Amino acid sequence: MKRILIASKGKPEHLAALFRDALPEHEILIDMPKPGDAPVDYMVVGRPAAGVIASVPGVKLILSLNAGIEHLLHSGEIAEETPIVRMVDDGLAEGMTEWVLAEALAWHRNLRQYEGFQRDVKWQPLAEKLAHERTVTILGAGALGTPVARHFVAFGFKTRIWSRSGRTVEGAQAFAGTEGLIPAVSGADILVNLLPLTAETENIVDARLFAAQAKGGFFINGARGGHVVDADLIAAVESGQLSAAVLDVFRVEPLPESDPLWRHPNILISPHVAAPTHMHIAVQEIARNIQRFERGEAIAHIVDKAKGY
Ligand code: NAP
Repeated sequence: MKRILIASKGKPEHLAALFRDALPEHEILIDMPKPGDAPVDYMVVGRPAAGVIASVPGVKLILSLNAGIEHLLHSGEIAEETPIVRMVDDGLAEGMTEWVLAEALAWHRNLRQYEGFQRDVKWQPLAEKLAHERTVTILGAGALGTPVARHFVAFGFKTRIWSRSGRTVEGAQAFAGTEGLIPAVSGADILVNLLPLTAETENIVDARLFAAQAKGGFFINGARGGHVVDADLIAAVESGQLSAAVLDVFRVEPLPESDPLWRHPNILISPHVAAPTHMHIAVQEIARNIQRFERGEAIAHIVDKAKGY
């Protein structure tokens, strides 16, 4: 019987029950194996404490409960030959699409401004644009960037999408690589970051990008805090180059109380909730990958360790 160890800080018993239903032929463990125990075949990981992965040598696959896996690569605890499978599932794509579109439409139609006006008992119509009068740029054309772009296209926004390879999305304009970045962002009213955090993308959202956006634009970060130079973001919002930004992710989480981002009137904060992993969907996805692996078939969503995503 193959053994699966769950190394997740949140509700491992609940996860174990879902795995027992999905893979009844496998033994599901939530406690660390003791010396002399039978080997563990697969490890399902969230953000385990330092040393946990290294203490279970010889696993055949590391299966992440999260889409972002930079913490696993940085840990240095995963052997070069052990594949890491990242989380790609419909729940994540749906969640991110809802969150990005909700924030983008709220900005586009001035909804937060009207909330403020109501608090002040003020009747003040603002100039209202239609979606086709706005340009949106999405950084990242992957499992999340692609469905988000499709929804912007469906709403009628002029949509651009930027990736390493220039992946296309019907109805959107595709841009590729370093030389395509500024052309992709140039004149964008809304900039959405959905890149993975790698050595190449760290600090990629900086003063240069904000300056390239249309004056008074909006920035949405649903990816990782490490993509953004916070001081450049604050300067762009304070100068009026950006009218507002919404951030779901931060360099340090929870965002420390003393961080100036908390108190900036035009920067909105959400506590890393854009696209939480829905365990019942994630377990099905992981179970399918384990079954594919055991049948000798190709596994979906293996991390390219050289690229970092
Ligand atoms: P993905 O499928 O791996 O897609 C990544 C995209 O980024 C691809 O289009 C890739 O280009 C592009 N890219 C990577 N490096 C690049 C570079 N140097 N230059 C240009 N483009 C580059 O990732 P995903 O599943 O969409 O997830 C994206 C990120 O979202 C995750 O890594 C995670 O950090 C974040 N996330 C956040 C939440 C949340 O709740 N806030 C939830 C889930 C995920 P190619 O297509 O050419 O390879």
